[in-house]
Amino acid sequence: MEVDGPHTNSSELTFLEGFRATFYVVTPSETYFEKMSEVPNYITAAIPHFFILISLEMMILYQKGNELRINDKITSIGAGMYSQVLELAGLKSIEFTLYVYIYNHYRVYEMEWNSIWTWIFMALAYDCLYYWFHRLAHEVNILWNTHQTHHSSEDYVLTTALRQSAFQTYASFSFYLPAALLIPPSSFMVHRQLNLLYQFWIHTELVDSLGPLEYILNTPSHHRVHHGRNPYCIDKNYAAVLIIWDRMFGTFQPEKKDEKVVYGLVHPIDTFDSNAIQVSHYMSFWKRLQQHETIGNKLRFIFCGPGWSPGTPRLGNPEDLPKIVYPVKVYNPDVSDWLSAYTMLHFLVAVSIFSQATFLHSSLPTSAIISSSIFILSSLTCFGYLFDKRPFALFTELSRCVLSSSFMIMYFFDVSKNMRIPEIILAAVIGLFLLSAVMWIVRMLSSADSKRKSL
Ligand SMILES: [Zn+2]
Ligand SMILES: [Zn+2]
Repeated sequence: MEVDGPHTNSSELTFLEGFRATFYVVTPSETYFEKMSEVPNYITAAIPHFFILISLEMMILYQKGNELRINDKITSIGAGMYSQVLELAGLKSIEFTLYVYIYNHYRVYEMEWNSIWTWIFMALAYDCLYYWFHRLAHEVNILWNTHQTHHSSEDYVLTTALRQSAFQTYASFSFYLPAALLIPPSSFMVHRQLNLLYQFWIHTELVDSLGPLEYILNTPSHHRVHHGRNPYCIDKNYAAVLIIWDRMFGTFQPEKKDEKVVYGLVHPIDTFDSNAIQVSHYMSFWKRLQQHETIGNKLRFIFCGPGWSPGTPRLGNPEDLPKIVYPVKVYNPDVSDWLSAYTMLHFLVAVSIFSQATFLHSSLPTSAIISSSIFILSSLTCFGYLFDKRPFALFTELSRCVLSSSFMIMYFFDVSKNMRIPEIILAAVIGLFLLSAVMWIVRMLSSADSKRKSL
């Protein structure tokens, strides 16, 4: 049997099916597909559920008196969009392309695509292979480059789940290729998506314990430990769906009730810049690699844990971990409420364009995919600059507003038709950008004026 190449979407899911898929609550028979082109895009179908659950969590946290930290949430959702935009542009299909190639040419046995045993085997195999990739992503410095983005949030909320590295696929894909010797690509494609989706809801502090399920499943409590930078949390609980792998391979750590978990990187990155969150560790990795003088130490630096230094064990000395200073201060430059509201409004526009581009992906011309990708990535970059209070943030945001509105005016009917945006809505969006541009010009002139007066 020859298998067709990777596709993104073909069939429709109901609202309830999309919701159940977000929790891996599906039956084998409803997730059997002979061809990859028949496999639904469960991730796209989950997007509305993400936003419903994120809004619910925000309302509950707000009622409990927690600060909402719009900056952190927009940055986390933005990292998820960043990662998906590269997928839209076709840069990530390497994983499926290679899987299909190996299955077509080198499979040693052909498991049936519509058998419950194939379904169970793939679910377990994917989860176990994920555990090993995830463990090595923490224990091997060069792989940590591709994963540290996910740990850069200092909050532990549902949006943290979306803070994904755009480049992790390039490191993780090879871990799943052994499955191609046996299992049809359609089954791999189903479980790859469901496994990833399951990991969404466990990123919350609102769920305490799930009782006996804590023995088998990865839960919010177990995954809180994984995101902690308290010394007892380091290099623990790598599971995706089943916590059994951590219990089997000696990395399980239950949450301590008498020590609050402090979240984020051991060395916090202190920025909301989307690009820095994705790539800054690569740059510091390269810089630190140059500092090691011998080939042996260079190799150890690459393949030992990120905490390794000459003379320490493979994963570094636990005593060298920076002590947590109480009360814990998270990175949170003080921006005015109006700027938060402004960024939120423009972020919603970017999310709408992103959603349209994702849902309509297969019918969009390449030019529309490229222009919406540029719009989304540049918007995320400018929002980060605003939240970081960079000195040039006013200028970059003004440029974004001017260039975006000019593009939408020039290609008004194409944008409206391709992205299926009603003309009246598109006109309102252009109005918002023009109004914003005028506001930034007034602010720049008034700040220049006040600087002149203070001289
Ligand atoms: Zn991790
Ligand atoms: Zn996580």
